[in-house]
Amino acid sequence: MSKQLYDLGDQPPLGEVPEKMHAWLIRADRFGKPMDAFQKEVVSTPSIADDEVLVYVMAAGINYNNVWAAMGIPVNVIGARNKAGETEDFHIGGSDASGIVYKVGKDVTNVKVGDEVVMHCGTYSRNCEWVKKGGDPMYSPTFKIWGYETNFGSFAQFTRVQAQQCMPKPKHMNWEEAAAYTLVAATAWRMLHGWESHSIKKGDVALIWGGAGGLGSMAIQIVKAAGATSVAMVSGEDKFDYCMKLGAKGCINRNEFEHWGMLPHWKDGAGYAKWLKGVRSFGSKIWEVLGEKRAPNLVFEHPGETTIPTSIFVCETGGMVVVCAGTTGYNATVDLRYLWMRQKRLQGSHFANTVQSNEMNQLALSGQLDPCLSRAFTYEELPVAHQLMGDNKHPHGNMAVLIGATQFGLGASGKPAVAMVHPTLPKGDVHTTPHPYPLSAPLPGIAEGEPLTITDDGTKVRDLMHAGIISCTPEDTVGTVAKIMVDKEIHAVVVMEQGKAVGVVSQTDMVLARQGRTPDQARSMLAREIMTPGCATCDADMLLSDAVSLMTGRRMHRLVVTDKDQPAGVISMTDVVRKIIGG
Ligand code: NAP
Repeated sequence: MSKQLYDLGDQPPLGEVPEKMHAWLIRADRFGKPMDAFQKEVVSTPSIADDEVLVYVMAAGINYNNVWAAMGIPVNVIGARNKAGETEDFHIGGSDASGIVYKVGKDVTNVKVGDEVVMHCGTYSRNCEWVKKGGDPMYSPTFKIWGYETNFGSFAQFTRVQAQQCMPKPKHMNWEEAAAYTLVAATAWRMLHGWESHSIKKGDVALIWGGAGGLGSMAIQIVKAAGATSVAMVSGEDKFDYCMKLGAKGCINRNEFEHWGMLPHWKDGAGYAKWLKGVRSFGSKIWEVLGEKRAPNLVFEHPGETTIPTSIFVCETGGMVVVCAGTTGYNATVDLRYLWMRQKRLQGSHFANTVQSNEMNQLALSGQLDPCLSRAFTYEELPVAHQLMGDNKHPHGNMAVLIGATQFGLGASGKPAVAMVHPTLPKGDVHTTPHPYPLSAPLPGIAEGEPLTITDDGTKVRDLMHAGIISCTPEDTVGTVAKIMVDKEIHAVVVMEQGKAVGVVSQTDMVLARQGRTPDQARSMLAREIMTPGCATCDADMLLSDAVSLMTGRRMHRLVVTDKDQPAGVISMTDVVRKIIGG
C-alpha cells in the first residue's frame, strides 16, 4: 500500500504518485514580502490531462516572476485564475525545473515514466485554432507562463506540465544546474535565432547588454556557438573575465559613458550634438574592442529606455535591435532617421516556443551552454532566495533551489560532448537591476475597456488655470517676445493670428533660437520662425488629470485653455506642481 505523503527527499518508487505533496504556497491573505508570502503546506497532488505530465521535481529555478506573485502585484495571479474558473485558492510558483517523469497523460508520446527532464515554461492550449493551423504558440491567446500564470509550478514535490514543455536533461549537469538555465536561455535563443533573416550567423557581430546577467550570459554562449562574435556590456571591469570566459570577444564598461537615457529633442541642437559625441565615442569603443571598424549586426536589448537610442544608432545598416524587456523604462526614443534611412529593425521578442526551446536545449545537451548557476539554495531557503532577489541582493547569474534532491551536486552522470569552462562571477557581485514588470502580465488591449482611474480629486483645468492670454503675433520679433516674457514674468507667450492660437514661444524655444547665433541675430528673428506650431489646447472643463496626461504624453509644459472655443488662459506644469506638491 503506497504512502499518502512522502517526506521531502524521500523519493517515492518510480511511477508511484502519492495523494498529497509538500509545496511552498502563496495565498492572497499573505501577499507581501516573499519571506512571509511563501509558506510550506501540504496539498493534494494535481491530476493531469491527456496531454500533460507529472514530474517529480528535483530542483527548481528561481525567477523574478514569483517575487511579483508573492507580492500580488501588478496582478493577483490567484484571483485571475479563479476568475477564469480555476478553483484553487493558492499559487504554487516555479517556472524552471529539473526532475523525473512520474506519470504521463494518454496522448503523451515524447516522454515516458522515468525520463530525466528539464522544462521550458511556455504553455498553450493544443485546441487553439491558431496553434492547430501551425501558428507560433507564442502568439496564441492561450499562451501562459507555467508557474506564474498557471498553478502547480516547480516549487513542490510534483509539478504539472504539458508534455511539450519537457526536454531531455543534460546528463553532465547536476539537478540544480539543470534547473537554472531554461527560461533565460530559451528567451535568448528566440531573440538571437527567432527572427528570420536577422538570425545570428557565422561572421556576425552582436552587442550584448548585461553580459554578466541571466539573459546576457546565455546570449554570449549562443552567439559563440553560431560562430559569431559578441561584445558584452557590463557595469564594471571586474566582470570582463566572466564574459570573456563565456565567449565574448571583448567587453565595455558602460560606466565609462554618460550619454544614456532618452534622446534629446532633435530641435535641441546643442543637446543632440552632445549626445552624438557620446554615442560616437561609444561606437568607436566597439571598434576598438573588435579590432576593426564594424557595427553590430544584432543588438541584444533588455535595459530599454536608457539604452535603446544607443542600440539603434550603433546597429549596422540593415541590422536588428531585438528587445525582450524594458528594465530601465518603457518609453524607447528612436531617431527615426537612423531607423528608416539605414533600414534597421527594432524587434520585440518574448520567451520562446517549443521548437526554439528544444533547439536551445541541444546546445545545453552538447555541453556548449553553461547554466551559469551562481547560487543554489536548500528547500527551506526558497523564500530567502526570493527575498534576496526582491531586495536586489542576489548574485548575478542564475539561481536554483533543491526540491527533491537531498544534497547539492547530485544528479550528474556522463560527460558532455564539448568540455566547458565554468566561469565564476566576481565575489560580492550583486544586482542593481530594477525589475519594473513581470515576465508575463496582461497588458491592456483594445477589447478590455478598463475604467480610467482618476488620481486627482476632480479638479478641473478652470480651477487652476491662469485666465487671460499673454500673446504676440507671428511677425513680432524674438526681442519683443523676450521683453513680454521678462516684464510679465511668464515662461511662454501664445502666438495669436486672426483670433486663433497658432503656436507657443516658450523659454526653451528662445534658448534653441540662440544656439549658433549672436544675441542680435536671435533677437531679430520672428516669433513665427521659432515658435512651436500647432498650439496644444484643452477645454477649461477638462479634468486636471487628463490635462496632465496630455502634457506628459506630448512632453510639453503648458496648454492653451479654451472656453467655448475661444482662447481663455494657460495651464502649465508649474500650476500642477504647485497644486500637487505645494510651494
Ligand atoms: P539580470 O540577471 O538582472 O541582468 C540584467 C543586466 O542588465 C544586469 O546584469 C546589468 O548588468 C544590466 N543593467 C542593469 N541596469 C542597466 C542599465 N541602466 N543599462 C544597461 N544595462 C543595465 O536580469 P536578466 O535575467 O538578464 O533579465 C533582464 C530583463 O529581461 C529583466 O527585466 C527580465 O524581467 C527580462 N526578461 C524577459 C524575458 C521575456 O521573455 N520577455 C525573459 C527573461 C527575462 P551590468 O550592471 O553589469 O551592466
